[in-house]
Amino acid sequence: MPSIGLHLALTLFLLASCVKDDALKPALLLLPFGLLSDLDSLIGVHRATFHNLFIPFIPLLSLGILRRLKLTRIPNSSGILASLLLAFHIGLDTCYNGVFLFYPFSGKSYNLEFWFGLKETGLSAFFTLIVPGKVGELMYVITPRPSVPEIPIIESGIELMILIFALLTFFLKFKGTFLKFFIATIARRK
Ligand SMILES: [Zn+2]
Repeated sequence: MPSIGLHLALTLFLLASCVKDDALKPALLLLPFGLLSDLDSLIGVHRATFHNLFIPFIPLLSLGILRRLKLTRIPNSSGILASLLLAFHIGLDTCYNGVFLFYPFSGKSYNLEFWFGLKETGLSAFFTLIVPGKVGELMYVITPRPSVPEIPIIESGIELMILIFALLTFFLKFKGTFLKFFIATIARRK
């Protein structure tokens, strides 16, 4: 599966591109939504319980109900972003060994394959949605089961580089707030 580091990097990129410059606090509160789905490696069935197509609708619907009942003033945009982050996570996992997209209604794991590049015949593209069992080797993407063999934090040098760039992008996006915080901390110590 894609590592926690890669999910974190994509979450940071998405937040840096969608949230306003002075909204560091909402960005930090939304950050966990990019990683939450992997909790199903501890509770329920991994790549199924929190990795299906229905999960991204939960923040949007919950916020809609809470706002209608006038129990919160959290803006709709935060609900949309939380849903987008969940959808991104599931989308990325679908490209890597497969996800049980229609769980609990179906036990089939879908694995998106895409290739685009040059071949001896010219430009070529390949796109398919394969149900593993024929191509996947890992048991947990073929048969739903509760446990996961291992959870990588960062899997390769490329992922490490992407994460460093994402952290830098996030820091530069909110540099004003970060600088204010550092200056206030130093001033308090003096
Ligand atoms: Zn995942």
